[in-house]
Amino acid sequence: MGGYGSTRWGWRRRKSCVEDCLTIDSYYFVRQLGEDGFQRKPHPGGMVVWSRGGQVHSTIWWSYINDGRPGIRLSYMAQGKNLAPVIYLTPYPCTFGGLRWYWCCPSCGRRCLCLYLEHQDFCCRKCLNLTYRSAQEAHKYEHGFWRKWGLHSRSRK
Ligand SMILES: [Zn+2]
Repeated sequence: MGGYGSTRWGWRRRKSCVEDCLTIDSYYFVRQLGEDGFQRKPHPGGMVVWSRGGQVHSTIWWSYINDGRPGIRLSYMAQGKNLAPVIYLTPYPCTFGGLRWYWCCPSCGRRCLCLYLEHQDFCCRKCLNLTYRSAQEAHKYEHGFWRKWGLHSRSRK
């Protein structure tokens, strides 16, 4: 597959889509930590790897921290810089009882399940004003549909 390397960051040029960004799901980390209030010891850390077309394109190291609030320190390189922000987790009562852990968006403080990397920072979908690709595709389809319909109805006259 030629030209893969030159296109893998192509999403930066287009309007960002959720599916194109690196996504971190709070549930993934919470599961690693033990959902029972993060009692699992030693606290785990690890590596999250994103791959596309069988090739690893991004790696993020993470470790659990607790400075009064539980959080995850993420270490990654973006735009030539080594970054290690801490993103806090915030509990919210579940409808079925117990707690569900959400990210606290570093930018707006909103409770959310997924954060997305754009440029150098992780923030929520609202902050990044991301659109879902499926919505864009649905839109494209709609245009195609009406064009086709227009041609069809004209040819029948
Ligand atoms: Zn936000």
